[in-house]
Amino acid sequence: MLASTSQLLRDAQKEKYAIGAFNVYDLQGVQAVIRAAEALKSPVMLQIHPKALEMGGTPLVALCVEAARSAGVAVSVHLDHSSAEQDIRSALEAGMSSVMADGSHLSYAENISFTKRMAKLAHTKGCAVEAELGRLSGTEDGLTVAEYEALLTDPDLAVDFIQQTGVDALAVCIGNVHGKYASEPKLDFGRLEEIGKRINLPLVLHGTSGLPDEMITRSIELGVCKFNVNTEVRGAYMTAAKKYLDDTKKPELTDMMTTVISAMQAQVESKIKLFGSSGKA
Ligand SMILES: [Zn+2]
Repeated sequence: MLASTSQLLRDAQKEKYAIGAFNVYDLQGVQAVIRAAEALKSPVMLQIHPKALEMGGTPLVALCVEAARSAGVAVSVHLDHSSAEQDIRSALEAGMSSVMADGSHLSYAENISFTKRMAKLAHTKGCAVEAELGRLSGTEDGLTVAEYEALLTDPDLAVDFIQQTGVDALAVCIGNVHGKYASEPKLDFGRLEEIGKRINLPLVLHGTSGLPDEMITRSIELGVCKFNVNTEVRGAYMTAAKKYLDDTKKPELTDMMTTVISAMQAQVESKIKLFGSSGKA
């Protein structure tokens, strides 16, 4: 059933597990996530990146919302990383459960004003808002320690930010990066602990692909209730499609669809188990 993101995150926070928010681009991705969630009786989030929204438009949103409605487990639909007010408005009108209002590229004051406005808008529709404080980088190469730390979430500022904006969940920057980790991931758990102590909101970690299992578990202990997963599931899709085409003499489109769905489903299931949300739907 179509679920409220706030409710999913609050339940996860209470019981110390995390919800997987999986980026989807098409029907195969949606089916893989829903099948994995149903197989493990887990709540889950279908997440649409602005790039996917640009390609799929409102038909992609309608697909996700309908798949969530007809699922046998609680599923919410979330717009990922949007800094465009128009996209946020359309997402909410199209029936999505929550949005990430991303003002992290703005100055602190502008980030507050943008996020506060988007939170008000979402709340009038009964939807939730995630925001990010700090900036996720691709690499720390070439930065001084001070420059690098300036990109991470400041625990004191986090308190001020959530008070001023009224957001429902906060994405933290503690050394996590989008895409592939160029070197061994290093997460600042001391900083995460400080943030968790000061604010009582569900915390979100982006850039989950490639993090060792023990870092995921530690993050959940320290208050992370939502993990964004994109790269690994996309990778499973493309690897499976390539292998199918390389290995099959007479390829059939429907066979290839079945193959890629299974490959993505396996990835999603392994994440759900790691996040501890199995049996929580
Ligand atoms: Zn992200």
